[in-house]
Amino acid sequence: MQRITILGATGSIGVSTLDVLARHPERYSVHALSAHSRVDELAAQCVQFRPARAVVGTADAAERLGALLRAAGVATEVDYGEAALCAIASAPEVDSVMAAIVGAAGLAPTLAAARAGKKVLLANKEALVMSGQLFIDAAAEAGAVLLPIDSEHNAIFQCLPSSYGRAPDSSGVAKILLTASGGPFLTRAVETLEDVTPEQACKHPNWSMGRKISVDSATMMNKGLEVIEAHWLFGAPADRIDVVIHPQSVIHSMVSYVDGSVLAQLGNPDMRTPIAHALAYPERIDSGVAQLDLTQVATLQFERPDFARFPCLALAFDALRAGGTAPALLNAANEVAVQAFLDLKIGFRQIDRVIAQVMDALPHGAADSIEAVMAQDALARAAADSIVAGMAK
Ligand code: NDP
Ligand code: MG
Repeated sequence: MQRITILGATGSIGVSTLDVLARHPERYSVHALSAHSRVDELAAQCVQFRPARAVVGTADAAERLGALLRAAGVATEVDYGEAALCAIASAPEVDSVMAAIVGAAGLAPTLAAARAGKKVLLANKEALVMSGQLFIDAAAEAGAVLLPIDSEHNAIFQCLPSSYGRAPDSSGVAKILLTASGGPFLTRAVETLEDVTPEQACKHPNWSMGRKISVDSATMMNKGLEVIEAHWLFGAPADRIDVVIHPQSVIHSMVSYVDGSVLAQLGNPDMRTPIAHALAYPERIDSGVAQLDLTQVATLQFERPDFARFPCLALAFDALRAGGTAPALLNAANEVAVQAFLDLKIGFRQIDRVIAQVMDALPHGAADSIEAVMAQDALARAAADSIVAGMAK
């Protein structure tokens, strides 16, 4: 029996994870669940899965959750705040942690899980983008196993040989080919992008996801963050990671080898496949996802990304090449800009301008401690806030 904590249980990834767990009650039990403010959804999950503990964002939310659970006769212990998130991520009773909080808020609990040597199922890419080597070192020191949930990285993990990264490297890996759908605005006239609404930006052609990552997919910052994520997860330098636009999202990513072979992982675009893969690894379990029917798909297309259409992708490559705290600055500026876009404070094309201005204004430093990373994160947020405030929409 694998005992699991789900950080971000009420989100898109959290709900998909619970769907897979519910199919295999003999293999998995839920130790703890977390949400931020969606208390009703979390209460319903607690009624169904009976976790020992549940954590929310504020004292008020904890009080409301406690009342709902008492009324339902559920004995789940309720707590709130970052220290409580870190506690459910590192509890001795827990074997695996699904890290599915969105954004920098997930860094502390995800790191706590890694430091406690858990099997970490990593969806929260922002945590790894911010902390990079610090996170990888903490996981290695504690003997934590990192399994990628992001569909591309899960695909790459499946296509890489187990010998990859061990010295001397005889794996013959030439390149990582990170596929990208191109999002909802792949073919829309660039000059009309100024006017797109949050609803249009969140309407992804292939995937159903939370609002922040949906906007990131529309700007392709999501792919930029994923390039940085791939760098840290697989130890690949920036010039060994190519982004390939593949609008059907049937191939989830590929690895090319020096002998000319290219290995790909394919499947229907449903996050339950990578979630089930990581949960059961190295075994395989049913995920509830239908088998891929290639004759239905019929056509697979590929093209190079247009960096002029998607400046966020170029900004992310720049941040990876700059190193140090540059990816943390990029991530923080992006989080502020995306929220400002969702709140109708700035237009879609101003997202990349806010990020570029923050990157120009703030020198990056060495990412030699989590405190240094968090200090840069705070500086970038303050700079982005004031740039947003000064932008007339
Ligand atoms: P959602 O917005 O759907 O869910 C986010 C979860 O995090 C919710 O449970 C939310 O709680 C919680 N949360 C939000 N803010 C905070 C906070 N400040 N402190 C603590 N918890 C918080 O996001 P997704 O599920 O789409 O994405 C989660 C992560 O997985 C992201 O990092 C994303 O990049 C990554 N990912 C997602 C994919 C997808 O298909 N959705 C694919 C690949 C990666 P509440 O519900 O109460 O607001
Ligand atoms: Mg992805």
